[in-house]
Amino acid sequence: MAGKSTPMMEQYHALKQEAEGCLLFYRMGDFFELFFDDAKTASAILDIALTARGKDQDNPVPMCGVPVHSAEGYLARLIKAGCRVAIADQVETPEEAKQRAKREGSPVSKVLVKRDIVRFVTAGTLTEEALLEPRRANTLAAICDVRGTIGIASCDISTGQMVLQRCEHVDLNAALAQIGASEVVAPQGFEHAVDNVIERPRGDFGSDEGERRLKSLHEVKTLDAFGDFTREMLAAAGGLIAYLDHVGRGNLPLLLPPQLRANDTQMAMDEATRASLEILTSQQGGRNGSLIAAVDRCVTGAGARQLADDLAAPLCDLNAISARLALVHYFHADPLLRADLREVLRALPDIGRALGRVVAGRGSPRDLGQIRDGLADARRIRDFLGQKVDRPTLLERLLPIMGGHGALVDLMQRALVAAPPTERQNGGFIAEGYDAALDELRQVSGNARRAITSLEARYREDTGVASLKIKHNGVLGYFIEVPPKHADALMAPDSGFTHRQTMANAVRFNSLSLHEEAGRISEAGGHALAAEESHFEELTAQVVAARQAIAATASALARLDVSAGQAERAAEGDWCKPEIRADKGLQIEDGRHPVVEAALAASGDRFVANDCALSEQDRLWLIGGPNMGGKSTFLRQNALIVLLAQAGGYVPAANATIGLVDRLFSRVGASDNLARGRSTFMVEMVETAAILSQATERSFVILDEVGRGTSTYDGLALAWAVVEAVHETNRCRCLFATHYHELARLADSCDALSLHHVRAREWKGDLVLLHELAEGPADRSYGLAVARLAGIPKPVVARAKSVLDKLEKGRAETGGLAAGLGDLPLFAAVGEAEEESAGDHLRERLASYEVDAMSPREALEALYELKKHAKSTEI
Ligand code: ATP
Repeated sequence: MAGKSTPMMEQYHALKQEAEGCLLFYRMGDFFELFFDDAKTASAILDIALTARGKDQDNPVPMCGVPVHSAEGYLARLIKAGCRVAIADQVETPEEAKQRAKREGSPVSKVLVKRDIVRFVTAGTLTEEALLEPRRANTLAAICDVRGTIGIASCDISTGQMVLQRCEHVDLNAALAQIGASEVVAPQGFEHAVDNVIERPRGDFGSDEGERRLKSLHEVKTLDAFGDFTREMLAAAGGLIAYLDHVGRGNLPLLLPPQLRANDTQMAMDEATRASLEILTSQQGGRNGSLIAAVDRCVTGAGARQLADDLAAPLCDLNAISARLALVHYFHADPLLRADLREVLRALPDIGRALGRVVAGRGSPRDLGQIRDGLADARRIRDFLGQKVDRPTLLERLLPIMGGHGALVDLMQRALVAAPPTERQNGGFIAEGYDAALDELRQVSGNARRAITSLEARYREDTGVASLKIKHNGVLGYFIEVPPKHADALMAPDSGFTHRQTMANAVRFNSLSLHEEAGRISEAGGHALAAEESHFEELTAQVVAARQAIAATASALARLDVSAGQAERAAEGDWCKPEIRADKGLQIEDGRHPVVEAALAASGDRFVANDCALSEQDRLWLIGGPNMGGKSTFLRQNALIVLLAQAGGYVPAANATIGLVDRLFSRVGASDNLARGRSTFMVEMVETAAILSQATERSFVILDEVGRGTSTYDGLALAWAVVEAVHETNRCRCLFATHYHELARLADSCDALSLHHVRAREWKGDLVLLHELAEGPADRSYGLAVARLAGIPKPVVARAKSVLDKLEKGRAETGGLAAGLGDLPLFAAVGEAEEESAGDHLRERLASYEVDAMSPREALEALYELKKHAKSTEI
């Protein structure tokens, strides 16, 4: 027969059940313990010892534990490894448990301290400074589907920013890629392939409930002032808030009024484009080698987070872009002003995140101190920028937001000491002079402490024991200590000392006077702590009440940091202010790739700048040239310049005029991606299909070696048809890099297509890559020369050369790989022609019906006939 579980194990199992799949941290004394599979998982991730404890139903229980005081570091590692953790803490003291047992009439010796899950720690709901990366936002997203449209609510609870948006099913992955959420929740059974979503009850995602919660949270009667939110957005907001409620056990974190993210105010980029442009992370996964790493000169964490947001969501609105650019220009034009501002910003605490912790009920006196100092700095910055003339409009808008808080700053300056501690239970954070009663209590305990010091001197004299000391510990409180050899003198019945404890190397005593002074200290100390605690709560309440204004100040400061940082980067790299227009051109003079340029500079090499000039008449550039010649770099640099410009920053070029881009696409052929072990030809085609169906006349597309992932003929045929479609149907601006010389023939039939190549020369048998773009088709492919450069053994290259000669000879005899292709009618024309004839026929039929004269039956039959006909002409 199986053995029984102990009461503790029963309690554990009940809590584990409540933890719903999270690892359970079970508090026992100074440790959080994990049991069973949790212990196995955690010990492997944390690399800590797996032991066993007692038995549960006759089986030893696997166990591991982490000390409570250093739990944060362990939590951080578990969260990073993708775990979620439920913290089960003791919610009564052992003393309270005993009292309870007495009341309940159960045996006191067996009583178990009550434990509850006090909090869930999950990747998307962190607020602790130690668990967050200062320069990265930490986002939680909730998604749901209302009648075929998706609502997305996302928030960064470390700063309270909340955004609501909607999208179609096909765009969900792109939207999630932009948000970059570290955790996504969705209703149970949500049908969409999204990785790692956490399922929550469907009932949580109600739009009425979402609306009600938002209204009550922000104390408004209607949400109109925040934006025109749709049903699906509100349903997603409902799901998000319900999840936060669940995770915080009813304690909601900081949530600011939701912002509406309209799809048409941003440049659209899908997931593949983001990955291929390496905007926030490089293909290797880190920040190193990414665009943001090459651009970011922010001096605050909040600035860096804002910049990441800007780069992830470039704008599509001329005025908004110009406003940002004007502010960057303002700081670019005045290096002294910029340096002064950055100096102040550098010392600025992270107000937004401190506020997040305070509102979530996890604030410390240090957080209040940070908010005080940050707000005071904001006022200084306002005063100092307010004196300048010719301020750009965006700055005019930011200044008043930074100015408020006078009374709050003043209060906190009086109330708090200069550098408040992170722990609040020991007090010591309320400044002297703020509360007379508190000062008096402190004086009492100060006096008593001094009295104890003089007692020590007196006892030394009275007993003649020079090594006598008065000490304090948590168990005994204050006591008198002497080495054992002097103990006898104090043991005498009339000595006035009472024996308390004998240790190997010390004997401890008490005395009436010491007892009295200690009593004074603890009483006054207790009262002082209580007084500090109530001041803390009062200050916290004031900060919570002003949370929206404080958060607005934090984001105004972040915007200043981004703008000054962009200006700094521009000055450092000689970048220019782009001109953004409403047309469909793209002129970039001496453009450079910020990441490649920095990498080359590090090894002492120079980047060769190149021009790009697209217009409605010449909107598709076909770019050939040798491997390693710089085609990919050229494609990407132009896409990155567009992205940087529409994010409102300067760009690495001598001049840039950019016609507003609505959607940016970047695709790399499978051959390139396979090297990174990521892609297959199928993925390449899926991604290319998305471009052909989504790119508009305002879009900008870069296609790198598309068609390379399959056999030569298939690949060439596909590349050919894709170029034609882009030229004829999408009519977007496009740079297309390819190794297929045969595509050059497309220049004959596509009038807005032109040929370009990266230059190379063979010199004394060696290949010299010039990385320079020139007009005209590539003369040859240099593949063998690159192979030689890469160290392929000479005999192999020689053999390849003879194979190549043979192939080329064969090709010349049959008229070449692309012979006859130029005579093909255009792909688009073929499709359209067929569709048209089918369409014409249907149209004729429809026109022949006299609808008013038809009986319902005749109408129905006519409909059947049309349907049958449409089916038979389907391609
Ligand atoms: P492949 O066809 O093999 O993909 P590619 O033509 O696309 O090659 P890139 O990958 O763009 O070539 O560039 C290869 C290398 O050449 C880069 O890593 C960089 O070091 C160097 N390079 C590219 N462009 C330039 C430039 N404009 N100036 C200086 N060096 C450059």
